[in-house]
Amino acid sequence: MTDILGGTKAGRALAVTPARIASLPNLPLFHKLQGRKVVVAGSSQGALWKAELLSASGADVLVLADHEVGASLYRDLAARPVSGPVTILPREWTEEDLDGAALAVADIADRDAALRFVAAAHAAGAPANLIDQTDLCDVQFGTIVNRSPVVLAISTDGGAPMLGQSIRARVESVLPLGLSGWAKAAQKWRPLLKQRFRSFQDRRAFWQRFTALAWANVDRDPVDADFGALVGGVNPEQRNGIVTLVGAGPGDPELLTLKAVRALQSATVILYDDLVGPAILELARREAQRVAVGKTGHGPSCSQAEINRRIISLAEAGENVVRLKGGDPLVFGRATEEVDACRAAGIEVRIVPGISAAQGAAASLGFSLTERDQARRVQYVTGHDTGGDLPATIEWKAVADPDTTTVIYMPRKTLEHFTAKAIAAGLDPETPAVAVASATTPDQGQVSGTAATIASFAADLPAGAPVIVILGRVARERPALATDLPEYSQMSLAS
Ligand code: SAH
Repeated sequence: MTDILGGTKAGRALAVTPARIASLPNLPLFHKLQGRKVVVAGSSQGALWKAELLSASGADVLVLADHEVGASLYRDLAARPVSGPVTILPREWTEEDLDGAALAVADIADRDAALRFVAAAHAAGAPANLIDQTDLCDVQFGTIVNRSPVVLAISTDGGAPMLGQSIRARVESVLPLGLSGWAKAAQKWRPLLKQRFRSFQDRRAFWQRFTALAWANVDRDPVDADFGALVGGVNPEQRNGIVTLVGAGPGDPELLTLKAVRALQSATVILYDDLVGPAILELARREAQRVAVGKTGHGPSCSQAEINRRIISLAEAGENVVRLKGGDPLVFGRATEEVDACRAAGIEVRIVPGISAAQGAAASLGFSLTERDQARRVQYVTGHDTGGDLPATIEWKAVADPDTTTVIYMPRKTLEHFTAKAIAAGLDPETPAVAVASATTPDQGQVSGTAATIASFAADLPAGAPVIVILGRVARERPALATDLPEYSQMSLAS
């Protein structure tokens, strides 16, 4: 059968253009308010926040604050407006106040009074926003992530403002502050570009190079030389890549720093140690190549020289290399060797510190590593030398000092020997000690004892799990703490 378009039934189905977007509750638009009059009626923290937002957007804000007491709420903002001026009148709003307004915002609990405000706003040609009365709103404020001139606004259509805030918290953590500087530079360079490049293709290629350069250098401000290089067509991809040594923290992915997450999200290659779990790698850019370069001392592993060679050759090929290490890269992480190798090869290298196993373990066990009158010093000691034996150069007197906390990394094979030597050097055998396995992960386990007993207790911890031992008066036994945060315990006014 043929139809009017001359196609078969199946052909006709194909001729219908599929919708490019599912239906929306509201259309997000970005409202230019510079120099335009906006009315805010009412006096409440919510109305004050809206007035602040409106001033930040450059609006000329007229506040009808009901009375003197209400007006005092806005005094600081009016004295130091974010951007647009804020004028306060200590009386109720009237229809005339809305003349010429581009937008009318009010916090009016009484339904009839709120409806009168909406009607007056409409009569003046202004869309209305009634705080906490979504059904009366022509327009709604989003929860804002501000990297001006880049602005993100999140809406849940009034359904779940707190969910909106939690989304904001997540987005804030992955969008670098430096984005702002690059977007400002783009605004400045855009008109110049029209003069340089006639063709659309050339301008498009410029913006592709710009975008790659911005993400790779988001931690520094753009400079005019960047524009020169981009216009000259120097492909940033063809330059040497950079190397970032990143601390992955002790295990809980939420203990990554914001910088660590960002580094993972802009990496093209990630070389990771076997202490780094899959939940952390999950946060990396999907397209990033992941290479295990485990070096636990057991099983096949890359030598340090081999790792250094790989890092350098990847960076020389233009890759953005993240060298991801458990805990803090600067604690028993051979960071200096890798940094020196990069420097010698002329490769730019950076370090993002992380939370070391000692801090992660102490936090979950709920004690300080230092404590007034108990420990005036903390020392991190390795239980391993390069051959896997107890290092011959440990200063046992320092371990025996009763006012010290000693954290033993890589203690498993040598702990008995370690504690015996410390006790022989004068450490009180009754000194509290705790051995913690897989600290901050769901598999965390710990055993408590004393300098004399901890080695035999620690032997019961799961084979293969990373373990540290904390030795000293601070490690006396006490109930462990929860380490997860109550989700969004603080309401903010950001919605
Ligand atoms: N740079 C890391 C230490 C690397 S050395 C840091 O700052 O934590 C590897 C040793 O760290 C392991 O043998 C173990 O002693 C310790 N370790 C690392 N993560 C750990 C964890 N989650 N729980 C207990 N010990 C851990």
